[in-house]
Amino acid sequence: MRAFTSETSSTLLRLPPGTDLLDGLTSAAKDREITAAWVNVIGAVRKLTFGFYDQETKEYTTLTHDGELEIASAMGNVSMKDGDPFVHLHVVCSGTDGRAIGGHLMPGTEVFVAEVLFQTFRGEGPVREQDEDTGLALWPTD
Ligand code: ZN
Repeated sequence: MRAFTSETSSTLLRLPPGTDLLDGLTSAAKDREITAAWVNVIGAVRKLTFGFYDQETKEYTTLTHDGELEIASAMGNVSMKDGDPFVHLHVVCSGTDGRAIGGHLMPGTEVFVAEVLFQTFRGEGPVREQDEDTGLALWPTD
């Protein structure tokens, strides 16, 4: 099984209110020339757009919550895809009743507050390749 091991460095930043969460993370990674990293985010959003991947149809169903939510937890990674940094993030958000919703972050999530940690790998990182079994662009296993 292929694995990538490296020294890491950490970057902390906050995305401005109104930023699209996925675009903001991607731009932050590009600006810092991050090619491989682990990402954590906490904060709050004004609108959440996320997806659920159907393993049979191999298509995402997109879900939207229009209104404020806490980002209770969000984690993911940065790796290269088609020559550019690609952010893959899963979010769990909670509302006024404390119930959580979440899934695969999609474009269309509006930041209220987003405190971000990039744990950046200094060495070679994985490059996403199209995987026939899952229909997804994934890291190589060998
Ligand atoms: Zn995902």
